[in-house]
Amino acid sequence: MNLAKDRCIFGPIPSRRLGISLGVDLIPFKTCSMDCIYCECGKTTSLTTERKEYFPTDLAIRQIDEALKQHPRIDYITFSGTGEPTLHSHIGEIIRHIESHYPEVKLCLLTNSFCLTDPAIAKELAPVELIIPSLDGSNEEEFQKINRPAPGLSIEKIARGIADFRKISSAQMWLELFIAEGINDSPESAGRFLRMVEMIRPDKVQLNTLDRPGTERSVGIPSAEKLRVMAEIIGRAAEVELIGGRAARKSEPEHLSTGEYNQRIIDTVASRPCTAQDLALSLGFREPNLEACLRRMEKAGLIFSEPGPRGLYYRAGKKPFSDVPRGSDGK
Ligand code: SF4
Repeated sequence: MNLAKDRCIFGPIPSRRLGISLGVDLIPFKTCSMDCIYCECGKTTSLTTERKEYFPTDLAIRQIDEALKQHPRIDYITFSGTGEPTLHSHIGEIIRHIESHYPEVKLCLLTNSFCLTDPAIAKELAPVELIIPSLDGSNEEEFQKINRPAPGLSIEKIARGIADFRKISSAQMWLELFIAEGINDSPESAGRFLRMVEMIRPDKVQLNTLDRPGTERSVGIPSAEKLRVMAEIIGRAAEVELIGGRAARKSEPEHLSTGEYNQRIIDTVASRPCTAQDLALSLGFREPNLEACLRRMEKAGLIFSEPGPRGLYYRAGKKPFSDVPRGSDGK
């Protein structure tokens, strides 16, 4: 399959946390240094720590310039995508370009943190305003089970890398811990996470749980009580916020107009390709209504579908003539 793509920009997306955010995805589907069991983009087909110019840097810069011309009121540019953004060997150059040409635009990086273990790369990433690094294992066994990393990566090195990054960057840091039922949801895991959080000292910790089906169907959402206990323990060192499936389920939409219903779908598929089941899970919409609505929206040219690893995936807009799959990071 040809994994090349001709665009690295997606959005802009209205985001509760970031305002209006423009996504930049520099990595081909599905290249990553990890193969997380919860990844919403599907299984990693190229598991690697090799940094390369996966997308032409000059083209990425041109596309960012064009997008910012079209959408001058962007609050954040967010590096995320179908794989690990820091695998792009010139991400530092792109960050410097945005910094020097658009000082009013903030930069956000979603990362699985592996590159933070290299001080030279960490220095290139330091100018971002917000970093959301993942740290999913409280020990090596959990790390291997949840993140299934490329050889050579260890949770100890990664935690140390995040802590060192904290010392060289003034970025806000929201440390994201993905909690999987039966793997890292015990009070013992919480105690180990607490020690890591004490070392890293992030601005806050986000406890994430499954939002949409991940790569492995068996991944479960811990009970609300387990999450409460974890939040209580980790909360001794930092503010803890519950995000993802368990939290999202609290707010099922009620009495939405057709326009609002459609807009929620468009906002969601603008940020990442989703199946009908993904949308049902993340938006709380009932599948029979949703499927009929997706058909209507596709006919109206608001969204389009294409086959993917878990069935039909919906994306925003009209289908380009020569399009290729593009996803977004599960974090
Ligand atoms: S969740 Fe992020 S780090 Fe994990 S496999 Fe998916 S893209 Fe890679």
